[in-house]
Amino acid sequence: MCELCGKEEETSCHLFWFCDHARGVWTSSKLVLQFEISRSWNFLDVVENLQRREQSYPGLLEKVIMVCWSIWKNRNALQLGGKGKAGRSLVRGALYLEGESGSGSGEVKKLKLYSFRWSTCSFRVRIALNFKRLKYEYKSVNLSKGEQFIPGGTKTSKF
Ligand SMILES: [Zn+2]
Repeated sequence: MCELCGKEEETSCHLFWFCDHARGVWTSSKLVLQFEISRSWNFLDVVENLQRREQSYPGLLEKVIMVCWSIWKNRNALQLGGKGKAGRSLVRGALYLEGESGSGSGEVKKLKLYSFRWSTCSFRVRIALNFKRLKYEYKSVNLSKGEQFIPGGTKTSKF
């Protein structure tokens, strides 16, 4: 059972989207997802849906992930008896973090992330890159078209 609201089972879906705590954060974030999240989904289903819409809404996935990360941290703080943050300052913190990662100084050589868009491990890498505020360039590799085998591709890609 969810320790914060006591209303539902504490699934990843509940704690990130449906818990009163999470709802409050999303409402103040003003981020709009172009799809309905079903209660039967897990976290990766949401990520997959965001990835599919990546071209139309660049950067939305990163923003959503950073807000989720903040929800997670805030939940832990609340459960440990801490004060936690109000929705708005939580979102501001999360999106500030996210924005920083895209606009740092140019000193650091930009990383390249080669990934197939349905890859579920690469989004974990993206969370880590955002968290560490590392800039990176997203290079799409379509595995279903065999793009990992094109000349030069095998040199750079570790697939
Ligand atoms: Zn809850």
